[in-house]
Amino acid sequence: MNLFRKLFRLVTVLVLSLALTAAFSACGGAASSGGGASSSSGGKTASAAGSELTVRMLDIGQGDAFLLEKDGKFVMIDTGDIEHREQTVSLLRKYGVKEIEKVIITHPHADHLGGMAGIMKNFKVDAVYDDGMPANTGSYKNYLKQIKEKKISYHVLKAGEDLEFFDGVRFHVLGPVKVIKDQKGNSDFNNNSIVGRLTYGNFSMMFTGDAEKEEEKTILDQGGTLKSDVLKTGHHGSRTSTSPAFLKAVSPKAALISCGQGNDYGHPHKTTLDKLEKAKVQIYRTDRNGTVTLTTSGSTYQIRKERES
Ligand SMILES: [Zn+2]
Repeated sequence: MNLFRKLFRLVTVLVLSLALTAAFSACGGAASSGGGASSSSGGKTASAAGSELTVRMLDIGQGDAFLLEKDGKFVMIDTGDIEHREQTVSLLRKYGVKEIEKVIITHPHADHLGGMAGIMKNFKVDAVYDDGMPANTGSYKNYLKQIKEKKISYHVLKAGEDLEFFDGVRFHVLGPVKVIKDQKGNSDFNNNSIVGRLTYGNFSMMFTGDAEKEEEKTILDQGGTLKSDVLKTGHHGSRTSTSPAFLKAVSPKAALISCGQGNDYGHPHKTTLDKLEKAKVQIYRTDRNGTVTLTTSGSTYQIRKERES
């Protein structure tokens, strides 16, 4: 072997080993940052290698608050409870929020709408979307008043609509399909929750608000794609949600549950946890894991826990 060939081989080996080192450190970084366990949808091919989408399930006690971020822009799905509103505002500041392009209120219960007053006071909100169900509460009335006073764009979402959250990130509204009443004939807030499937490249996540098995059935009856990599488990993991048929249709690999430590409702219920475990779904919950952060480039995804307890 002459000198030229030897040099060529040496350079090839060096380039190969550098490439391998870079690949391994990228995987390792994603899996270990944040000190928590991670999950990945390995095996998928990258088709939409874009900028990173981050979905944070905020640790704000019993309630739901999801902060989505891409390219420095923000969207929220639900805003947490009234008693935790300062916590929600300080978490949004921590993550660099100044303006929120879209806020979706899945339904007007306090543990989803409650943070809205603090959010509208402290941040610029461009547009608000809800299910159009009026609640007879002070916080709901104030919410509508603030939207009007601040001239925020307001829209009632219906099944079949599509929202563009960010460049390449779509939110397809699946519910409410129709108004569902409870046994007394009153509008059933949980079962009129906005349910939607988020997609980014090959990644998908089902958001359910507090939808229970009745609304899940109306969505199943509509047909269409429900299969998602990640499920935001309905109604804080209550036994009244995540029916076997809905879980089977979504077939998630990971489930996110937002619930307060030692909450009065016993959420998440054991039956739901058992169902998810039996289906080999990895469970992440705010009461034990703090804020849970999912990141995806549209091909694979990682989920990080803030703590393990
Ligand atoms: Zn709730």
